[in-house]
This record gives sequence, C-alpha cells and structure tokens, in this order.
Amino acid sequence: MVRVRFAPSPTGYLHVGAARTALFNWLFARHEKGVFILRIEDTDVSRSSEQMSQVIMEGLLWLGLAWDEGPIFQSKRLQIYQEKALWLLNQGKAYECFCSPEEIETRKREIEARGGVWKYDRYCWRLSLEEKEMKKKEGRKGAIRFLVPPGRTQFKDLIHGVISVDHSQIEDFVLLRSDGLPTYHLSVVVDDLDSRITHVIRGDDHITNTPKQILLYQAFGATPPEFAHLPLILGPDRKKLSKRHGVTSLLHYRDQGILPLAMFNFLAQMSWSPGPEERIYSIDEMVANFSLNRISKNSPIFDLNKLEWLNRRLIKEMKAEELLIWLKPEMEKKGLWQPSFEKENWAWFKRVLDLIKGRSRNLIDLIGNLKPFITEDYLIDPIGYEKYLREEKLLELLPRLRKDFELLTDFVAPEIEKTLRKRAEQEGVQAALFIHALRVLTLGKTVSPGIFEVLELLGKEKTLARMNLETARTKLAVSTANQN
Ligand code: GLU
Repeated sequence: MVRVRFAPSPTGYLHVGAARTALFNWLFARHEKGVFILRIEDTDVSRSSEQMSQVIMEGLLWLGLAWDEGPIFQSKRLQIYQEKALWLLNQGKAYECFCSPEEIETRKREIEARGGVWKYDRYCWRLSLEEKEMKKKEGRKGAIRFLVPPGRTQFKDLIHGVISVDHSQIEDFVLLRSDGLPTYHLSVVVDDLDSRITHVIRGDDHITNTPKQILLYQAFGATPPEFAHLPLILGPDRKKLSKRHGVTSLLHYRDQGILPLAMFNFLAQMSWSPGPEERIYSIDEMVANFSLNRISKNSPIFDLNKLEWLNRRLIKEMKAEELLIWLKPEMEKKGLWQPSFEKENWAWFKRVLDLIKGRSRNLIDLIGNLKPFITEDYLIDPIGYEKYLREEKLLELLPRLRKDFELLTDFVAPEIEKTLRKRAEQEGVQAALFIHALRVLTLGKTVSPGIFEVLELLGKEKTLARMNLETARTKLAVSTANQN
C-alpha cells in the first residue's frame, strides 16, 4: 500500500511551495487509496515552535489536506535517532568525529588556498583507539559521521528520470551532532523507514540529498522508497519564488478571501494539469486523474492573476449554499451575519448572492457587494457621486420618481423598470440619468448588476429611504473621511 508523508520544518509560516508539496502527496495518496502522514521536523529546537506547527496544520486543514497518521513530532524521537546512529557506529558504517568547527575551517581554508575543493578529510576515521580515548579524556564530545562507501549511486526519480552520483562527490556527512541531535539525513531516513514510506515526494531542492539518504537506507539493510522531486515554483521573472513576488504564506490568501478550492486548483495546476481545460476541477476529479508521471519537470510560475481568475470563476460557479460555508464565518467575524439569512430570509438572501457573486473577486469583495443589501454601513464612491449625483435636474426629478415608486404596489423589477422609463419619458430625460443616480444612491457604486433587480431585492422601503440626495451627501462625507 502506498504510504507518503509531508514533512515540514516548523520554522516559519506554511509556504505556498510547501503547501503544494503537501497537496501532491495527498493527491497521490488518495488516488492510490494509500496513507498520507504528517511529520513535523522540529529537531532544530531553537528555530522550531509549537505555534508554527499549529499554523502548518491550520493551513493544511484549510486546504482540505487532512492527514491519516500523525502528526509525528521528531523532537519526541531523539532517543531513537541516537540508537540508530550508535547501531551504524557499531557496525563500522559510521565513525566518531571530534573535530571542532574551527579545526575543520582551518583545514578547509588550507585546501582551498591550494585550489582544492573541501570535503571532510576523514581525519577522525584514521584515529587509533588510543587517540580517540585521549580526545574523550580531553572532554571532547564526538559527533557521528557516516562512512561513505566507494562506488556510485543511481536512482530513477519519478519526475526527473535517472540521476547518478559518484560517491567521491559525497563527503562523510554527520548523522548525529556532538550535542546528540540528529541531522536531517538521519532523522528523515529513520522516520521514513519506521513509517514504511513507499514514495518520497518533495521539492527538488532535496535532489542532492537523495543519494546520501539512499546510502543510509542501504546501510540499514533496507530498500529505499521511490523518489519524486517536484520542480520548485518560480516568480514571474523566473527567479526562485520569494517575498518580492508577492506574499508566500498560504494563510495570507485565506485571509484575502481566496477560497480553498481555488487555492487547491492553483497549486495543483502548477506542474500538473488535471485535465485539458483551464478551469476549476473538483477534488474528486483531481484525485481520479492524478498521476506522478504527468508532473512536468519544468519549474512552474507563480502567477497571482491566475489565482485571482480561478477564485473569481469559482465564486461565480458555486451554488449559494456552498458559498455560505465560507461566507458565513467571514460575515460573523465582521458582525454582519444574521441567522435569518439561512432561515426565513434564505430565498431572498440566495437571490442577492446569485446576483452579486459573478462580480466578486474574493470573499472580501463579495461581502463588500453584499453590504448595501444588509446594512446602512456602506460607502459612497466619491467619483460616482461627482459624476452622477451633481446633476441639477435630479433635485427636482428624483422626488418625482420617488413618489412614483412609492405608489407601486408590486415592487418588482419589471414594474420598477416600467415606472422609471415612463418618468424619464415624461420629463424628457434619458432613463440613464435615473439609473446611474440610483446605483450611486442605493449601492454607493457606479457599476452593479441589473439595477431593477437590485432595487427589488433591496425592497421598497430601503430604496425610498436612499433616494435622498441629502442622505447621500452625508454618507459621502463619512466615506471620504474613512478614506483619508
Ligand atoms: N523538513 C524538510 C523540509 O521542510 C523535509 C524534506 C523531506 O521531505 O525529506 O524541506
């Protein structure tokens, strides 16, 4: 059975690149009906924090990447790594090293001064037993280094193809530091073995680590798992993705009103395509179509326009009921939610949502578009005010139209439209004069969905109350003050 893992180091927020690695692991596990494990690589105690682990888990759960096993915390397994390192030592596959960083640095500089390339010179491997004892007596604590055997390691990466490295390129790397903490290579292999990982899917910044880890598997007498190294995400300038290209924290995008399914599609569609079209795919479709073989080895570009496009499209296509799952908590946070929206006023609320969702880029935008329908606390666009409400004629004509509306018994879109057009005709003005003015008056905006439907959904009472230039002027003052 397929068993994969996502193994973040909790030293910062959850990076979008790491989230994408998690997502491909998850898709592969689901497609293969396997197991997805979460492992927190927190052995670097000074740089890891409990809070960061929480943020990582929050991010994974927001994306929908629930894990089947774990979280396994490496910091709780230090003894196991120590035992494994000692085992290798006793087998003669590793040796103690007493060199201090300063001593290594001096020898390294000498080699480099002679134009050579430094690699640990096996100084401590050559020490006699007595010499070792002496070092210990001096109070030196030994690290444990892996004794790289001669030869060549070759493996077939599922994305990059055959990779082959001569062992002369690999130095005797440290397994256990003198303070007893494992290095990444030791802990990763011990844990992947313990968890019976079948496929290691991770960023291709780890490709050079893989031959070392394969050597370790062999030293433990185990068969290495399969490896698939995902190409790293680049910024639009084809340089490694960094803060210069936009925010790289996953949860930032949640806070910006991006829906998890849009983010899921965005991340999945970097290096892989779930199908022939550029569109939103459901999780089920992606799980069904997933294949590691179809991941491209070319680096994808982090294109925020695409994320925005996907999110806009998703909001537009989502049923109001589904949208509510994400919208309601956001509205609650802003104090805008009323229980009646999903009860007695649901039919109305749903119509409002259906009317405005096609014009919303994200949840925050959607809430902004929703506000005039549910509260008086919406802003008036000053440009719209200047352009459409300064018209002299309105002073006289608006109250007349208001009166017409007041007399309407059936305040529905077709009747509202008929009434407005009739009034415009009687007064010899363009209907657009009223339409533009009403948009700014009732929504605070210069663009909107069909205004007649907007007015119907706002209701007669609100519409009449807002058809007042004086009120609009007061609101404008508030809006301008808020903007400054
Ligand atoms: N903790 C490592 C990282 O965050 C994991 C590497 C691996 O998957 O082996 O890059």
